[in-house]
Amino acid sequence: MGVCTNCGKSLDPAWKFCIYCGATVEPTTRAEPIPNAIRPDPTEVAARKRSRVDVPLLIGIGLAAAGAAMIVYLAVLFLLPHA
Ligand SMILES: [Zn+2]
Repeated sequence: MGVCTNCGKSLDPAWKFCIYCGATVEPTTRAEPIPNAIRPDPTEVAARKRSRVDVPLLIGIGLAAAGAAMIVYLAVLFLLPHA
């Protein structure tokens, strides 16, 4: 039990937010999930992914090309009859 830090009304511990003013209820006694500060910000993560997309993409294309070449090479090696 506690009171709303925003409007001061009594709160039920099960409530995630104050039903009177809509303020988020700060956990007092219960162990709550990770606070917002520790959680990665989705927009920040998205921005980081966007800025780094070029290099892994090029590496991926290079590896895919090398892999395809290797597969073709092995296929030729194993499938073609040897003289
Ligand atoms: Zn309130």
